[in-house]
Amino acid sequence: MQKYDVLIVGGGPAGSTLAYCLKNTELKIGILDKKTFPRPKVCAGWVTPDVMRLLNINLDDYAKSRVLQKISGFKISLLGQKQVETNYSGKPVSYGIRRIEFDDYLLQRCGAELNLGEAFKKMEKSSDGSDECLIINDKYKARLLIGAGGHYCPVARAIDAKGVSELAVVAQEVEFEMNALQKNNCSIKEEVPELFFTPDLMGYGWVFRKGDYLNIGLGREDKSKLSCHVKSFCQYLSAQGKIPEDIADKYNGHAYLLYNHAIRQMVADHVLLIGDSAGLAYPQSGEGIRPAVESAIFAAEVIRFCEKDYSKNKLQTYNLLMEQRFGKRLPEPELMERLPVFIKKIFASQLMKTQWFTKNIVAEKWFLQSHQPPMPAINK
Ligand SMILES: Cc1cc2nc3c(=O)[nH]c(=O)nc-3n(C[C@H](O)[C@H](O)[C@H](O)COP(=O)(O)OP(=O)(O)OC[C@H]3O[C@@H](n4cnc5c(N)ncnc54)[C@H](O)[C@@H]3O)c2cc1C
Repeated sequence: MQKYDVLIVGGGPAGSTLAYCLKNTELKIGILDKKTFPRPKVCAGWVTPDVMRLLNINLDDYAKSRVLQKISGFKISLLGQKQVETNYSGKPVSYGIRRIEFDDYLLQRCGAELNLGEAFKKMEKSSDGSDECLIINDKYKARLLIGAGGHYCPVARAIDAKGVSELAVVAQEVEFEMNALQKNNCSIKEEVPELFFTPDLMGYGWVFRKGDYLNIGLGREDKSKLSCHVKSFCQYLSAQGKIPEDIADKYNGHAYLLYNHAIRQMVADHVLLIGDSAGLAYPQSGEGIRPAVESAIFAAEVIRFCEKDYSKNKLQTYNLLMEQRFGKRLPEPELMERLPVFIKKIFASQLMKTQWFTKNIVAEKWFLQSHQPPMPAINK
């Protein structure tokens, strides 16, 4: 039996950040991931400079052998309407990364013992009675089990079956390296990703050029006919001459929960959830990497505070820290969300044409979260 103080299920940004935060402690940390790394992850792949700062990533060093696309503007519109450009005069307000590279970089430096290519299957209470811990897959013994397995995290399901009925955003994405001809036929500017909100206001699509790579995707709050929406979005982009006609059409799908509407419980005896496993994505943009990283930092703080007593009672501190940072969860729709769709459409079609709304609300509030006070970087 392999023994850990903390076993983390999932080696994405949440899991690897938690391990990194606990790297120089006396705790023995393990990560279990069903995939071997580097592995692809369905994602547009943009992160704010604040995430890079929090994670102590040296940008020059990172960019030596990986894609790091500076973003210094956005083109925003309601699909079919005129686009409005917000420009930050060359200042990087975000970066484009490739998750296959980013996640592997974080995992390899995190200092945990890696058990890759092995899925979490089951957990049981230890039967010896004396030692308060869990047995995982009949093979690992851990005082604390961390669910960091993303939206479909099996640990989240093991502690709370409600997850099945949650309202999730569903999304499809494709990322591929363009050939010379495709690059010629792509009019998307590298520093200016384009966002297109759907006319029914149920989601948005994006097209994002990161160096030689093109990333196209669309996410919606309703599952129905997602593939049709994605297909017609791509036809629109190609008819506008924005993307080459012969793009790869192997879209990958995934889902995530928006923090305010998620109903997952985040702690149980000897168990704590971080990242998408806890359902933390920001409401309008669906950005999930920053909340994943921040939740991991809070989890590390709580783990230190618990001094190896990982009872639910002691772990509740995590809920408090999360609420202080992300606010109270409001499973019921807010006032604006309850407005009839035709009213919302009228407002949206007018507002999305204005420079003020697209810059101050969509770009800065929804996508850059510039109102969020920065957290201190991980102390190494
Ligand atoms: C289409 C799309 C676009 C997105 N674009 C952005 C974006 O541009 N910027 C942004 O900030 N966020 C974006 N997000 C959200 C972002 O991808 C997630 O919030 C982020 O990946 C969460 O990190 P995580 O570590 O919690 O989970 P993940 O990154 O999902 O990692 C979970 C890990 O757990 C492993 N795992 C799963 N099941 C098991 C199991 N049974 N046993 C063992 N291991 C398991 C997986 O292999 C994986 O490595 C997007 C999401 C989608 C769907």
